[in-house]
Formats: sequence, C-alpha cells, structure tokens
Amino acid sequence: MDYYLRMACTPEVLQQVGQRGGRLAAPMSELVFPVLPHADTGAVQVLLRILAGFEDFARVTAHHTRRDLHPALATDDFKHCCLSCLVYRNERVLDSEWHSFCECPGTASARSRFSEICTTELTYNQPCTAKDLCRLVAHVSSDPRKAGALATLALNVRATRRHTFRKLSTHGPTGRGLVAVQLTQLQNLGAAPAVI
Ligand SMILES: [Zn+2]
Repeated sequence: MDYYLRMACTPEVLQQVGQRGGRLAAPMSELVFPVLPHADTGAVQVLLRILAGFEDFARVTAHHTRRDLHPALATDDFKHCCLSCLVYRNERVLDSEWHSFCECPGTASARSRFSEICTTELTYNQPCTAKDLCRLVAHVSSDPRKAGALATLALNVRATRRHTFRKLSTHGPTGRGLVAVQLTQLQNLGAAPAVI
C-alpha cells in the first residue's frame, strides 16, 4: 500500500513528507485495505491521497490557492470553511474529508451513486467527524466491490469539488461575483453560527 501511496503523490508532496520525518505514514499494525479495491487505479490513488491528508481541503490548505480570486477566504471567518456550503447554503462548516464524503450537499449525487452500489445508506453524526469517515472505511475495507465504490466516491468527490472551484472562479454573477456577494453578506451578518 505504501507503494500505491507513493504513486499517488506528487514529488513535491513526497518531499514535504520526507522533510517532516521521512515516513509516508505512521506505522499501522493492520492494512487499511486487506483487499485490492475493484476500481480504476486512478480512483484508488485519489482515495489514498485523501485518506493520507494530501488532497486540497481547507482545514489544512486554508484556501491559499484561491485567495487571489476570493480575498475574503483569507479571513479567519472563512479560511477553513467549505466553499460550497458558504456560497450555496450560507453556512460555515469546516472543509474536511469527512464533511465532503458524508454530508456536504455539494457532493450528494456522488454519495447517492456510492449508496446504490453498496446498497447501504451513509450514516454519520451531525456534525460529522473524522470518526465517521474511519467507520465508513472500516465498513467497506474487506469487500473489494465496496472498497472500489469508495474509491470511485473519492474520485467523484474530488471532481465535483474541482468543478465547483472552477465555476466559482469564473467572471460573472455565478462565479466570483456570487462568492463576493455571499461572503460579504455573511460578514455583515456578524458571522453565521459556525458548525466547526
Ligand atoms: Zn460543504
């Protein structure tokens, strides 16, 4: 699995990890996936990158790459928030892997495709936590078909998020203009109750 994680990471990420101690992940006594997920290699790589904390979630990245386009994302009010929930629901929610997988309305269609394949509904606490994502991984990890569905969910979650980021980066009323209006509105409200 370490090999797959190396394949899934860019040289820059591997260098960062190396500088932090030279190991890709904390040693574990058991494999996360004792079976090989039935999914495209690319989807499995995305899943591993997400589970290892290497993907673009604002709880870690704080929207650094989007601050030029959306300056309000540099403020303490918004820098760790899910952009989709800020703009489309007027809610401040921590942008995390577990929020995206389990509860974000922006990724609902990807989630429903996963539930169809696994013939099971995703359950989670409200607000959801990292434990919910761990429970989900444990639930599918020994079944190649379900583990593959989780990898496909990971790929779809990333694709949906990237599509949303691109859309909100465009000129016009459904892009940057919408972000500016919604974030200004939230700031003027004195910051909505945060679910963080
Ligand atoms: Zn969200």
